[in-house]
Amino acid sequence: MRVHHLDCGPMVGGLVDHCLLIATDRRLILVDTGFGTQDVTDPARRLGPVRRVLGLRIDHDTTARAQVERLGYRAADVSDIVLTHLDLDHAGGLADFPDARVHVHGPELRAAQTPRWTERPRYRPAQWAHGPRWVVNEANGSDTWLGLNAIRELPGLGDDILVVPLYGHTRGHVGVAVNTPAGWLLHAGDAFLTRRDLDVPLRRLAMTAYGDPGPRAALARWHNTRALADLTGRDPRLTVFSSHDRAMFAALRARATGAGNRDM
Ligand SMILES: [Zn+2]
Repeated sequence: MRVHHLDCGPMVGGLVDHCLLIATDRRLILVDTGFGTQDVTDPARRLGPVRRVLGLRIDHDTTARAQVERLGYRAADVSDIVLTHLDLDHAGGLADFPDARVHVHGPELRAAQTPRWTERPRYRPAQWAHGPRWVVNEANGSDTWLGLNAIRELPGLGDDILVVPLYGHTRGHVGVAVNTPAGWLLHAGDAFLTRRDLDVPLRRLAMTAYGDPGPRAALARWHNTRALADLTGRDPRLTVFSSHDRAMFAALRARATGAGNRDM
């Protein structure tokens, strides 16, 4: 297995949009898609007014599609996409891989397809108007991973990639865990913003305001950040990172490149 770390949507304040490209013997898998080529060519229609506050630094070279091709693959080689959630900064590249199977958590797909009025700005139906090949996963309440609820059955992806529900940022937000020879990676999406948000209790409190409004979602986020902070302290072979943390992105990219990307 090789894991490549891609920034598919540089934003204001140095935020990145951390996507993974995982090459296994049989499949090429993207975790999240960042902003895609149509977001670059038609940002007003695709992204709406929210784009103005994101301070996007996107162009064709930052898309997952361009980066996949620079790594020597064809876009059509991407067999599967696993999504943390369907916010516009994570689902924009779906149309660049129209034949890929898109593994999405059921509650997230339902939220995006029937949004509440508060959710309308974040979900952009234009990004999936091409009709992705959705493969919906649902929690069964009994699978676990390192003590957290998990979904182990992602059709065709084997035992080394699984979904970890981390509700709160959106209604169906999840993390994606990847078992690499160097240890587990947990792409925690937008469960928190930077590693300091996990490590400093006062900052964990601030994360309760990051995402879907309402006390239930805020409580879920508090629970998530506490659980993730506990996990990271317990297991040195586990690396937890978020979508938008530039420092973690740089460290993981350097680690993968330094290892010759043989075993990450
Ligand atoms: Zn995000």
